[in-house]
Order: sequence, then structure tokens, then C-alpha cells
Amino acid sequence: MRLPQKRLCVIAMSVALISSARAAPLVEPTLHIKPAASGTGRVALTLDACGGKTDTRILSALVENRIPATIFVTGIWLKRNAAAVAIMQAHPDLFELENHGGRHVPAVDTPQKIYGINSAGSPEAVLAEVESGAAALARTGEPAPKWFRGATAEYSPSAIAMIRKLGFKIAGFSVNGDGGSLLGAKETTRRIAAAKDGDVIIAHINQPTHAAGEGVVQGLLALKDKGMTFVRLDDADGTGNHGTTE
Ligand SMILES: [Zn+2]
Repeated sequence: MRLPQKRLCVIAMSVALISSARAAPLVEPTLHIKPAASGTGRVALTLDACGGKTDTRILSALVENRIPATIFVTGIWLKRNAAAVAIMQAHPDLFELENHGGRHVPAVDTPQKIYGINSAGSPEAVLAEVESGAAALARTGEPAPKWFRGATAEYSPSAIAMIRKLGFKIAGFSVNGDGGSLLGAKETTRRIAAAKDGDVIIAHINQPTHAAGEGVVQGLLALKDKGMTFVRLDDADGTGNHGTTE
């Protein structure tokens, strides 16, 4: 049977409408901390450990310069980086470890690709990602995580609601320091050094061969030289949009 052209068009349009209703647009939430009451200002440094190895340039610089940071770790990364975890745990005044998921799967409950990575794809899979990340942290003897950041830092609004229900705040950011660790050292330095009072910086600590890591160190030292204070998410009043913190 051949359908008239016009009818086909209507069918195509309704299919498009149905699929767009299913896949709500993703959000990339922001996060800010309360600005400092006085002085130069304060920022929160958050570093993702997605998988892979440890950038010891960054880890050493944080320890040597006594710069506190919130590290978002996955179950995969924890398994392969015991030495780095031991260093972090030896400095509980500097490092707060939080939940970056069990397997580094984006917290999006519909099947799609984000930056080439397959999303969790269902509410059950989002739940498994968040809970397995928390369980992996518990196995290292860490206190229960309070913050979650999903792989790619993009979420479906329904996933945000689910994660909040599990009791986690969701960690957005306000300064993209290293562009997924793909930026050059100079641009990374420039972005991080430009952070203002109340900013939350995101960068990566799991790509030791990338030039961006050198920029992370230089940018942080520039902020420290300016007299900027660093705080961890647990020590600051973080406010995010899209229902991620309130
Ligand atoms: Zn990640």
C-alpha cells in the first residue's frame, strides 16, 4: 500500500514529537559557593578522577602547597590507583573524596550518547551508577559521600530528581578549567587563574600525559599567589541551579 505524501509527512512529524517528548533536553548545572566575607576571596577546586591513572604533578602540587580539593572518584579509578588514594587518605585535611559513579556512565536515564559516551539509559542504570560509586568509596574506608557528579557532568532532569532523592547533592561547576583535560597548558592556566570569589573550578586529575595537567598546577599557584583561599565542597555553602542542591 502506498500512503499519500501528505499523510507520510504527518506520521513522520508525530514520530518526531514522540521521541522529543521522551528525551528531555540535558542540563549542565552550575555550582557556586558563598563568596568570602572578607579578603581576596575563596574558590572550591574540584578534580575528577574518571578512570585511568593519577596526575602526580597535580597531586604533589596540592600536597606541597597545602591546597585543599574535592576529588570526584569512580569505582574504576579507585581500583587502579591505590597509591594515590593512600596519599589522599594520609592528608584528610586536604582531600575530600566524593562520588563520580561506579563505572563512569553519564547519569541520563534515556539511551543516548554524550561526548561519545553511552548514557546509563534507564532509571535503574542511573541508580546503579550512583550507588555503586558510593559503595566503592565505602570499601576504601571513606566516610559516606554527600556529593555526586556524573560522568560528562550532564544530566536528564529526571535523573537529577532521582539522585537528590538518594540524598546526594549534585556538583556542577562555574569554571571549566581544563575542557575535559583536552586544553593546552597555557589556556588551562589562564582559565583557572581567572577564577573569582565564589567560583567552583572543575578539572581532571586522571590524565598524567596531558598538557592540561601542567596548566592546572600553574593556574592554582597563580590563584594562591593572589591570596585566594581554597575550600572543599563540604566546608562551603554550595548553591547550584536545576534543583541540584536545595
Ligand atoms: Zn569524569
